[in-house]
Amino acid sequence: MPPATTPMMRQYLKMKELHPDCILFFRLGDFYEMFNEDAKLVSSELDLTLTSRDRGKPEDQRTPMCGVPYHSADSYIARLINKGYKVAICEQMEDPAAAKGLVDRDIIRIITPGTVMTDSMLEEGRNNYICALYADSAGWGLCFCDISTGQVGAASFSGVEEEHLYNELGRFAPREAVLSDGAYSDQQLLDFLTHRLNCRCENGGEARFRPDAARQAAEDQFSAGLEQLPQGDDHALQAVGGLLSYLYETQKTDLSHLSVLTWYAGGQFMELDLTARRNLELTETLRSQEKKGSLLWVLDKTRTPMGRRLIRAWLQRPLLSPVAITRRLGAVEDLVTDSLTRDEVVSTLRAVTDLERLIGRIVYGTAGGRDLVALSAGLGKLPRLRELLSPCSSALLTSLTGELDDLPDLRALISRAIVDEPPFSVREGGFIRPGYDAEVDRLRDILTGGKDLVAGVEAREKERTGIKSLKVGYNKVFGYYIEVSKSYYDQVPEDYIRKQTLVNCERYITQELKDLEHEILSAQDKITALEFNLFCDLREKAAALVGEIQRSAAAVAQVDVLASFATVAAENGYCRPEVDLSDAIEITEGRHPVVEKMLRDSLFVPNDTHMDGRAHTVAIITGPNMAGKSTYMRQVTLIVLMAQMGSFVPARSARIGVVDRVFTRIGASDDLAAGQSTFMVEMTEVAELLKNATSKSLLILDEIGRGTSTYDGMSIARAVLEYCADKKKLGAKTLFATHYHEITALEGVIPGVENYNIAAKKKKDDILFLRKIVRGGADQSYGIEVAKLAGVPDKVIARARQILAELEAGGIQAPGPVEKPAADQVSLLDMGGNEVARRLRLADLNTLTPIEAMNLLFELKKLV
Ligand code: ADP
Repeated sequence: MPPATTPMMRQYLKMKELHPDCILFFRLGDFYEMFNEDAKLVSSELDLTLTSRDRGKPEDQRTPMCGVPYHSADSYIARLINKGYKVAICEQMEDPAAAKGLVDRDIIRIITPGTVMTDSMLEEGRNNYICALYADSAGWGLCFCDISTGQVGAASFSGVEEEHLYNELGRFAPREAVLSDGAYSDQQLLDFLTHRLNCRCENGGEARFRPDAARQAAEDQFSAGLEQLPQGDDHALQAVGGLLSYLYETQKTDLSHLSVLTWYAGGQFMELDLTARRNLELTETLRSQEKKGSLLWVLDKTRTPMGRRLIRAWLQRPLLSPVAITRRLGAVEDLVTDSLTRDEVVSTLRAVTDLERLIGRIVYGTAGGRDLVALSAGLGKLPRLRELLSPCSSALLTSLTGELDDLPDLRALISRAIVDEPPFSVREGGFIRPGYDAEVDRLRDILTGGKDLVAGVEAREKERTGIKSLKVGYNKVFGYYIEVSKSYYDQVPEDYIRKQTLVNCERYITQELKDLEHEILSAQDKITALEFNLFCDLREKAAALVGEIQRSAAAVAQVDVLASFATVAAENGYCRPEVDLSDAIEITEGRHPVVEKMLRDSLFVPNDTHMDGRAHTVAIITGPNMAGKSTYMRQVTLIVLMAQMGSFVPARSARIGVVDRVFTRIGASDDLAAGQSTFMVEMTEVAELLKNATSKSLLILDEIGRGTSTYDGMSIARAVLEYCADKKKLGAKTLFATHYHEITALEGVIPGVENYNIAAKKKKDDILFLRKIVRGGADQSYGIEVAKLAGVPDKVIARARQILAELEAGGIQAPGPVEKPAADQVSLLDMGGNEVARRLRLADLNTLTPIEAMNLLFELKKLV
């Protein structure tokens, strides 16, 4: 790097030294400039031209630089943040025109992915979380925060609760994480954050997580919530401390909108692991990661950004308490029954602005006049909302109505003070309404008076000098001047002072004009400064009401989500589920909420479900490919989840006993990209599921064992099924789709296991899907018919039919797994005594994997 040759470069290098991990945006007049390595990096990342200072010098002594205009910097910063960089903003702290020597500069904030505040960098319908993680040998502390909305929460997890920590991280999907040394050295955690969640991770060191400093910072920051932190366990508190310290270091501004700390104790919400969340396509589809095609796509008819963020959160954390769920259902019912109120509520909500983020910006100090007007306009809709909701009788709507505070005094103040359409910047005046402040009015009169006087000068001087073409004009360099064209030079009076000569005219000033100019410009400066001060006063008054505004915003968000649930329920003919603590899942004519919306030509065929965790615990579902097995299993799960979110459900009637967790094992997983084999992924998921499920869980298992040889696969499938059904082991409600028809023999052998199949009919050589789930195992697989449907060439289909016919007639040997004749597969369930010896002989101990060995042992034991 070339040596710093100028005082300004020395100033730059000093700033850069303080923030080596950031790209430094150095304000120079109307630009932010970057130098040296930063300049090279940014020019290549953003495709900007790389130039250099000191062009006269030899190449190796030049300083590379590149710049972006100040007024459009946001979009460049956003692109860098999205690429995972941090940007430090170094501003001019004084007016360069007034500065003596080097302009004073300072870093005013550091922008990171988890701390962006600008609208253009935030997604309206989604929270933007940053989290801090503390870890030691005893457990973890987690604190997450959305600084744009003011939400902060904390939780701690003991050493054996690692899985819960991962689930919480999956739920919040933070964009940025600050980790203590202990957390940062946990490679598995780091991989999960970086690769699975695409989160920027930073080692925050150990010092910022110290408990004593953490307690002090938390006490200073929060006005409520600290008392809920557990006694004698500092993990959560340390994470809170770590987060606050990072925010103070990067934000350097008022963060008093982070005033309430929420403690997340377990047991309130249903936990969903990342696999279940993704497989069930709650907020985005598995394949294309789009909202369209997800449950959120169907349920989200919210009208406000706050509602949009909340419905996403509700989807991610269904409730566990029937009381809390019923409270929501009551509110939805109110709005389903009264369609007139619902429509009016929805159209009123449409005009409610993003109160949550507006108050965030107001406190944070980046709000402008437009934000205050938007805040006031949003609050102004609340009285109408209250009026509409007041006849509603449900407990939840009644209490939410009471929380909709429209803050009439603040609204009145804002509308008295600020014009309807204020300019973008608060630094240039022009937004204070006439009549609000006597001094602003007086100065404005001087200004208009001065301008009138200037206009008067023109008329008077024309008359005095007899110069017809005399004009008074204004430019930034000379201020006001009198312009006289060439032909009148000889009539210019003595007291005119020449300032500028142009081709056809000369420009003059007079003492009178200079005096007027001084008056006008100083009035203008005074107005601008005064308007800015008045704005700051207003902003402070609004900021002081942050608690009230956040409460109102939270109530609006809930009303919005409830109204959205009601709209969807009414439009799609959903029913109100009965939710209790039983083990029942009783659904009559249930439908899949998303698939029924996606079907264009055909109608969705409804299906029933009867499970009770006793006589009906495990449903084995067979049927040809494409019959609708996985649709059915997802449908049951989604209905349960929707009910526990407090939404109506797509069915004629439903009774749902609260489920503590939902586990899924479906199809290929996204870990494949990380280099694990399909079967390994499948088994890891099965292992997690069996470890963590309880008798209150709902399991959906699709084609377990498919990833290995038939023999292996079937053994594992059966062992898993037995475990799920056994009350002494797990006894959890399970939907079990399988293509191993042999498994259906377990009905009547293991209590609680029942066979179902999704009916299909053969019609000549084709297949007709009936989509109806019926009792009993499927007798045929129809694989060839499905292959035909999928467009496999006729010749191949014909050959397949031929092979099948020969196989069925016993004419040729079926191609089985290398180590076992195919006949073993079918005789698995009725093997005789000398079978043990035969199986042992066949087993190749050199190639047997541990799990295969276990299964073999398990099978052999059953035979003796
Ligand atoms: P499987 O898991 O048995 O292979 P899927 O559940 O993937 O089958 O269903 C295949 C297709 O059948 C779905 O994409 C859907 O379009 C259609 N389908 C499934 N269930 C129904 C139903 N109940 N009514 C109408 N169409 C259905």
